[in-house]
Amino acid sequence: MTVQTMSSSQGSPARGSHSSLVPFDINHPTHVVLVNPDTAFWGLVHKNKMNEMLAGGELMEIFLAKANIFADEMDMLRFHLKPSAVYFNPTERCNLNCTYCYIPAKMRRGGNQMDKATVFDALEKLHSYFRSHMPAERMPQVIFHGAEPMLAREAIFAAIDAYGDRFRFGIQTNATLLDEDAIAFLTSHSVGIGLSLDGPTADVADRTRQRWNGNGVFRHVVHAIDRLDGYPRFNVICTITRENLHHLTELVEFFHAHRVPACMLNVTRCTLPGARTVCGEDEDVSKAYLAALERTHQLYRETGRKLVVANFANILIAILAPTARRLMCDISPCGGGRSFFALAPSGDLFPCSEFIGLPAFKGGNLFTQSVEEALTSEPFRLVSGRKVEDIAGCNSCSIRHFCGAPCPAEAYEMNGRMAQKGAFCRFYEEQVRYAMRLIADGRHEDFLWEGWDADTTSLCAIGSV
Ligand code: SF4
Ligand code: SF4
Repeated sequence: MTVQTMSSSQGSPARGSHSSLVPFDINHPTHVVLVNPDTAFWGLVHKNKMNEMLAGGELMEIFLAKANIFADEMDMLRFHLKPSAVYFNPTERCNLNCTYCYIPAKMRRGGNQMDKATVFDALEKLHSYFRSHMPAERMPQVIFHGAEPMLAREAIFAAIDAYGDRFRFGIQTNATLLDEDAIAFLTSHSVGIGLSLDGPTADVADRTRQRWNGNGVFRHVVHAIDRLDGYPRFNVICTITRENLHHLTELVEFFHAHRVPACMLNVTRCTLPGARTVCGEDEDVSKAYLAALERTHQLYRETGRKLVVANFANILIAILAPTARRLMCDISPCGGGRSFFALAPSGDLFPCSEFIGLPAFKGGNLFTQSVEEALTSEPFRLVSGRKVEDIAGCNSCSIRHFCGAPCPAEAYEMNGRMAQKGAFCRFYEEQVRYAMRLIADGRHEDFLWEGWDADTTSLCAIGSV
């Protein structure tokens, strides 16, 4: 039996009652998972022992002894966080026209853009907000996001220079405007850099990521990746679509060969209709994704160098230490409007960048209202109040706290209601099954960052066969 549930924070007093353990089949030859869906407590047990364990064996005793602590930790993570980050969109404009973009084309062609004074004004206001509730030793995070934030280069570079002692900065960019000076500036200021690339060749990558005139940008991104060799704070995001899913394994080989330290292999968010035309089927996406993950493992074994697939590592961490996860799409309610929010160039505040093209989800304006007002506005409450317990199918799902039923923007736009599943349910299930199989086989550490558990406190970690 293996039981492993850890925490990044100390437990608080016992509270409430919880239902018991239920089996979750992970398609493993010898082991099955018993999980308490309410608390995300789980144990891997031999199939021969399953009935005995369910009837009240050692695992049940361990669970019952700690159940209230696990429940309180999940409650804290799910309902009592305050924002510590902002996705800062200095411009609505973009020099690309990617198929699956969640920002409407009209905005990307000629939308608003902040000037330097407006960026500084926004950062002053954000700084006051974050300092009002964050401990002095924690720095809030500002991620310049888009559309293409490098179109506002002068303003954001000046801001990074001026506010480097008050915020940790990151930038998500399509890489086309990353010249030598820009790379030197960003790396010398320790800015986290996220690039986007959807394929290992121009033929594949340029199918979904193109300029307005139809020209691809593959070579620009590869040039930037090579220039960033050795810089630890960069990653590359790939959006999995019908156009590239048969090339995912080659893509992770490409990333590894180019010494990319971490990547994300994200399923398409089907928020806008354009994305739904290229998103792929659950089964095909799952197969390609798991094959690519396996290939990263082989590459690690062959070379001793990891390519961490960050979104998958986050799922593993969500299982191993539910409150230590870093990304916030796989928890319900998701992080939008809870652990971060998004700022549009007009000053409008949205729960997440994914909502920026959906005016009904504007919760306020940074220049005329307080952030607190936006956080408690009806649009924000609609998003931060969307929880798996209210979604048919998810409310009885054993792995609901390892999946989180993402994404509210996608679910709302696809189905017209928040209390609905979004896309890729079966993909999310398969992802958790695979993660559990890795744990059963003792291979999971190979998929994680070194030192991933440095800040966690073990509440329960027992291993035996
Ligand atoms: S989307 Fe699917 S896997 Fe995720 S919680 Fe809902 S039912 Fe479970
Ligand atoms: S699930 Fe959707 S709305 Fe929530 S944080 Fe992720 S992308 Fe944003």
